[in-house]
Amino acid sequence: MMKQYHEAKAACGDALLFFRMGDFYELFLDDAKVAAKILGLTLTSRDKDSDNPTAMAGFPYHQLDSYLNKLIRAGYRAAVCEQVEDPKQAKGLVRREITRLVSAGTLTDDGLLDPREANYLAAVYLASPKTKSREETEPTAGIAWAELSSGRFEAGIFPKSRIEDELARIGPAEVIYREDDVRLSPDTTAPWSWTSRPAWSFAEDASRDALCKQFAVHNLEGFGFVDADGPAIRAAGAALTYLQETQRGGLDHFRSITAHHRSGVLQIDASTRASLEITRTIRSGSREGSLLGVIDRTCTPMGARLLADWIAAPLIDRARIECRLDAVSELVGDARLRGDIRETLKRTFDLTRLLARIATGRTGPRDLQQVARTLASLPDLKARLTNRKSERLQFVEAHLHLCPELRAQLESSLADECPLAASDGNFIRQGFDKELDALRLLARGGKEWIAAYQREQMEATGIQNLKVGYNKVFGYFLEANNSQRDKIPDHFIRKQTLKNCERFITPELKEYEEKVLAADDQASAREQLLFQNLRLQTHQHLSILQEVATAIAELDVLAALAEIASGRKWVRPELTDDSILQIEAGRHPVLDVTLPQGEFVPNDCVHSPEAGMILLITGPNMAGKSTYIRQVALITLLAQAGSFVPAETATIGIADRIFARVGASDELSRGQSTFMVEMVETARILNTASPRSLVILDEIGRGTSTYDGLSLAWAITEYLHEQIGCRTLFATHYHELTQLEETLPRVANLNVAVKEWNDEVVFLHRIVSGGADKSYGIHVARLAGIPKAVNERAKDVLAQLEVDHRDSLDRPTLSPPGDAAKQNHYQLTLFGFADHPLLDELQKLDVNAMTPMDALQFLQAAKNQL
Ligand code: ADP
Repeated sequence: MMKQYHEAKAACGDALLFFRMGDFYELFLDDAKVAAKILGLTLTSRDKDSDNPTAMAGFPYHQLDSYLNKLIRAGYRAAVCEQVEDPKQAKGLVRREITRLVSAGTLTDDGLLDPREANYLAAVYLASPKTKSREETEPTAGIAWAELSSGRFEAGIFPKSRIEDELARIGPAEVIYREDDVRLSPDTTAPWSWTSRPAWSFAEDASRDALCKQFAVHNLEGFGFVDADGPAIRAAGAALTYLQETQRGGLDHFRSITAHHRSGVLQIDASTRASLEITRTIRSGSREGSLLGVIDRTCTPMGARLLADWIAAPLIDRARIECRLDAVSELVGDARLRGDIRETLKRTFDLTRLLARIATGRTGPRDLQQVARTLASLPDLKARLTNRKSERLQFVEAHLHLCPELRAQLESSLADECPLAASDGNFIRQGFDKELDALRLLARGGKEWIAAYQREQMEATGIQNLKVGYNKVFGYFLEANNSQRDKIPDHFIRKQTLKNCERFITPELKEYEEKVLAADDQASAREQLLFQNLRLQTHQHLSILQEVATAIAELDVLAALAEIASGRKWVRPELTDDSILQIEAGRHPVLDVTLPQGEFVPNDCVHSPEAGMILLITGPNMAGKSTYIRQVALITLLAQAGSFVPAETATIGIADRIFARVGASDELSRGQSTFMVEMVETARILNTASPRSLVILDEIGRGTSTYDGLSLAWAITEYLHEQIGCRTLFATHYHELTQLEETLPRVANLNVAVKEWNDEVVFLHRIVSGGADKSYGIHVARLAGIPKAVNERAKDVLAQLEVDHRDSLDRPTLSPPGDAAKQNHYQLTLFGFADHPLLDELQKLDVNAMTPMDALQFLQAAKNQL
């Protein structure tokens, strides 16, 4: 048996092997140790007395699903090895085979999937770097993502440095990569599991062939791939092979692959995505509380997943955005229409996932019934969508194919209540199939005969409590208590003696038994056959039904966006291709919904060459700076996704990228200091932002000493102003930065209004123009419960520091180096440098008239003055 085990183990790679032994699944050796730890199983061993006992751990077979679930959530993969013949009939060892391979990215079981979230498998392939005149160019990565439960499949090429950002956008459950590629070091803190795959599965020709075969095409150009897309094809091929291996066939719902052109979407890097909490919150990593979670008003799981896609990848093409907005607008304008559509959508089922189960051969009668019920809701939807003005609604209408024959077939054949599995039987409606009805009648008639026979025999023999029973070994039998033994007639044939009773058969009983059992068997065989036909018919409609599913999802999203827009009084944004932003009375889309009605204070935001491209927002902590700058980014993002926005009016210049460097993210687990992370992210912004980008920066430079931080923030602002010129919102508590407004024409100062009253501070959360002059940190500390004594002392210290600070500005002398106390003054007066007497002298110098020696002497003299 262990030989059999090792063979199976060799065939399943690094997946944990669940080996069926009778009523248990057992894991051996290292697998057992892992399972003991992750699943909390007791670790025992075989051959305990030998020198080298085999570790093992196991559990009863019916707990398989819950253990699989746990293991997959912990990032492992599992193979299930079943006994494939009846142990009673097996000669020698029972035959066993791996029947399932399960991993996070290849789940189809409803119980293990969240209906509102996509479950992608991604594949990453890194091409060898091309050498261009001895200079290495950045390697290209191919990324493919496929969803087994929907048949969606996309692939594209990206620069290596974008791998992390793209994976963050896709949000896969599992990522596969080439096992021998040392350049890809899987980030184990990522929320997906990593699976290494052999190099051959990424081979280009084999990948092309596999994809062409899957989609029954000669080449992949029709899907939009070009010659340079080799790495994307390799990744897609590897993903397909992996799916084929785990599913053992049945991928018919993968009908095409889309070449992903990232130029069409708003670029959002991984850390911006995380800090804006677009689809997940930072704290809990869950959908609840994120932008997506708060605005989601979809009625179907298909819509919920599509909305997540739209929000995760907003558009940059104005015409496409306007198309979505037109449809949302039409639905906002007609509340009845919207209400009717949403009510009807609630009657549909998750067609996308139903189709995937049909294609992978894992479907049951209830699935087909749900297909039928979804089809039944289409005529209403279609009728409500006729003669609509907006293009997207017309598109949806055109794609809601009613499939009347299929619907009629399913409705007339399936009973009102259908079981999940076909093997449970009794789901074909009475009257659908004559042959089945006849067999059922016979089976039922036989059973009635048996009941009558029991009554008859009881009366004839006078045996009270004479029972008819059934078991697998003897079939139907008569059972009499020992106390009635004398009354047993001769024609009863004794079959079994138990402690208190005896069991008999009679020739008549056997005769009927055969009829009943045969009719039962035949009826269930007939039912299975009918089911297979229905499945096949539905399968033949796969691609047309996939179009229906896509149309339902889009309609749901459009109606959901209209629903929130009308419920929260959002407005249609006006889009332009200029790099401007004009938001009147904007609100933070999440706080607007979560704070009690009327508590959120709306704010304007104007970005234009005249009003300023860089808005510096100063103000005390807790005043609402972060909220304000995030709100602007989220409003832009919503607008580009095709949604209305929380504002009174909004004119939004379409951004090509959004960058957010916000707060200290919890990247410490990756072994980088907060400051380092902050600088890496800032470097990326400075290196990649374009004049059409939107940048929001929150408290840059906080992770280092005040003066380092201030100088960096200063220089970064200048760079954004001079070199990039993109729309920027910079929240900072460095009041010194407000001076930049005087020298840089496109910088404007804003601050958050605060009311001071009797030593109390009231945050008004209102953004007004001008710089702030106080930080109120001590007041916030008091609000937070810092003891009074500490607070009072802090006030004294602050007063003292303010005096020192003023002094140093009054007497702007450069302190000699090395004097630690005065070093501070040096830094404090950096920005008072303009008044230093040396400057005067410098200004008066006539450099052209100086010899090199004069210059050196001047320098020496200047140095002596310091
Ligand atoms: P800062 O970045 O200035 O420290 P935050 O933006 O974190 O401040 O805001 C602090 C708190 O104030 C938030 O938790 C939020 O609940 C509240 N707040 C911020 N802006 C507003 C607003 N416009 N209206 C109402 N409450 C707000």
